[in-house]
Amino acid sequence: MQEQFPSIIQSIMKTSQDMWQKGWAEANGGNISLRLEKEQVPVCSPKSDWIPLGCSLPELSKECFLVTGTGRYLRNIALFPWKNIGIIELDETASGYRILEGFEPTGKPTSELAAHLMTHASIKKAYNNSKRAVIHTHAPSLIALTYALTLDSALLSKLLWQCHVECIVGFPSGIEFIPWMMAGSKDIGEATAMALARRPLAVWQFHGVFGTGRNLDEAFGLIDMAEKAASIFLLAKSTGCIRHAPTVEQLRSIAENFKGVPEESFLNADTTAFFR
Ligand SMILES: [Zn+2]
Repeated sequence: MQEQFPSIIQSIMKTSQDMWQKGWAEANGGNISLRLEKEQVPVCSPKSDWIPLGCSLPELSKECFLVTGTGRYLRNIALFPWKNIGIIELDETASGYRILEGFEPTGKPTSELAAHLMTHASIKKAYNNSKRAVIHTHAPSLIALTYALTLDSALLSKLLWQCHVECIVGFPSGIEFIPWMMAGSKDIGEATAMALARRPLAVWQFHGVFGTGRNLDEAFGLIDMAEKAASIFLLAKSTGCIRHAPTVEQLRSIAENFKGVPEESFLNADTTAFFR
């Protein structure tokens, strides 16, 4: 990793490269944001005037974010970081932002900025200021499940818990299923922000997944775990003869072993039809 970049930039270079290598980030697909600590914000003159956000998020007053650029390819971040990412600062009421660094020469933040910032406002409050990373990506096996199966949050959560037994430890509160809405809209931004206050992951039907964490490693790791569970289901299903799946008692005992408290109503979801 190029040592001339601060560690926070190196972390987004590594995460975006991992997303590309996993096959989650074709063309300009996917976006990343990270709420910065004060000491991580560069001391520099702003590179733009204030730009309206179209909403106000007072929880994020004067916060600064590292964000990927609109139309930019995640796989190019490691090659040309300041062309493909930037740092923005929100104003006093968090109803506008200005660019402090990056998006060279004349770019701007991701078109999903509203969904990212609404999510940051929501998780900052829900997790007592501890969560700072949000990743959106096109993880193919999770997307495939939304085509193949009729899902809700309970069915999807239990299915993933059953298909990779680490999942009930990694995300005991489950994963939210969000039926199709227009990407980039206020509606999907609000639905995603509400979902991610309750659970660390949310799947957008026919589109992709959002993951949150204290840092990029944690957000990436949770998406990777869920995506692996979805892949295991599709692989087992492709054999045409799924014969076994973990029982509710087995899932509960795994969670207890790691001191996790799974969402009880999700354990009761009936996934038997998926395993026929
Ligand atoms: Zn997307």
